[in-house]
Amino acid sequence: MKVYADFAATTNVAPDVVSVITSVLSDHYGNASSIHSIGRDGRSVLDQARSKIAKHLNATPREIIFTSGATESNNLAIKGVAYQNQHKGMHLITSSIEHHSVLHVFHQLEKEGFEVTYLSVDDKGFISLDELRNALREDTILVSVMFGNNEVGSLQPIEEIAEVVSNHQAIFHTDGVQTIGHLPIDVKALKVDLFTVTAHKFYGPKGVGLLYIKDKTPIQFQQLGGSQETKRRAGTENIAYIAGMSKAMEIASDNIEQSNIQLTHLKQIFINALQNLDIPFELNGDMNLTLPHIINLYFPFSDVEKMLTILDMNGVCVSSGSACTAGSIEPSHVLTAMYGDHPRTKQSIRFSFSHQNTEEEVIYIAEQIKKIYEMNRKE
Ligand SMILES: *Cc1c(COP(=O)(O)O)cnc(C)c1O
Repeated sequence: MKVYADFAATTNVAPDVVSVITSVLSDHYGNASSIHSIGRDGRSVLDQARSKIAKHLNATPREIIFTSGATESNNLAIKGVAYQNQHKGMHLITSSIEHHSVLHVFHQLEKEGFEVTYLSVDDKGFISLDELRNALREDTILVSVMFGNNEVGSLQPIEEIAEVVSNHQAIFHTDGVQTIGHLPIDVKALKVDLFTVTAHKFYGPKGVGLLYIKDKTPIQFQQLGGSQETKRRAGTENIAYIAGMSKAMEIASDNIEQSNIQLTHLKQIFINALQNLDIPFELNGDMNLTLPHIINLYFPFSDVEKMLTILDMNGVCVSSGSACTAGSIEPSHVLTAMYGDHPRTKQSIRFSFSHQNTEEEVIYIAEQIKKIYEMNRKE
């Protein structure tokens, strides 16, 4: 049996999304910047996708900038705000559990002379609003805190964070990648200034994403060249993938409730199966305030390399935290932020499910873990 349970790393592309992409690739190939009819046709597909996406997020079309994915969106948000606002202050705030496409940008900015405060998290993976309040200074220009964590699933109180930041000059960015398809996203209600999205985490293609930039947010655009994206992100737009992302977002938004019910059920079946098989495990994170598709478990009997290898040999595709740290013996920075120097930072696995997974599949995963547990007991 082959079981894919690594949907937080990437998803397959939904068949309806593939249809949209192939039709645009072959039938609407115009360059959106060309003024002739074929170009205008491409432009029209691009404009429609932008309008639909904006509507799903409750943004205006002008507030959506298409990018090559979340890594670019996060780089643009953080560097763009830092460089554009450095005359107002050089202090930045983020959390210690961000994706590397956020953390590594802050590390770079520190080398360039900015000062960064990394907010801590508790053992469930939540930041503290009090710590944020205390960290905010007169010279703080940016706060970047992710919405749903990709390793443990913890959901930060984005509206409350926005409320705290709203009395302040700082601009608020959130990496919302993992929330699309699981939470209804209304950027106006969330009161964020910048919101990062990437298509391949919700059954769209890889290499396309967007940054929501609230109107009038002071930001320095990073990609120079032609006048695409109203001169804010140069480069010929990937219209086929953008249209695919729009379709994927439509499907994701329409199915949030149903998919979350199914995911919560699958998670419960998985936990029940582990318990019924007498496998020792502990949850990393919180069972309630969490993304429904992610569950991160500590197995106090095997190191993660060995487990992932055996699971893979038995057809189970899962990972240890972020894909970026998988394959290396580095403990997860997220688990380290939650638990310090504890064996569980090296003995934990992230399972991330989809509505496509079945009960039979999650029980199969539990059975393979049981085999590993038995093997380790005999050693
Ligand atoms: C996957 C992921 C990213 C990176 O997205 P890319 O489109 O692959 O660059 C960023 N942040 C989070 C939370 C993610 O899960």
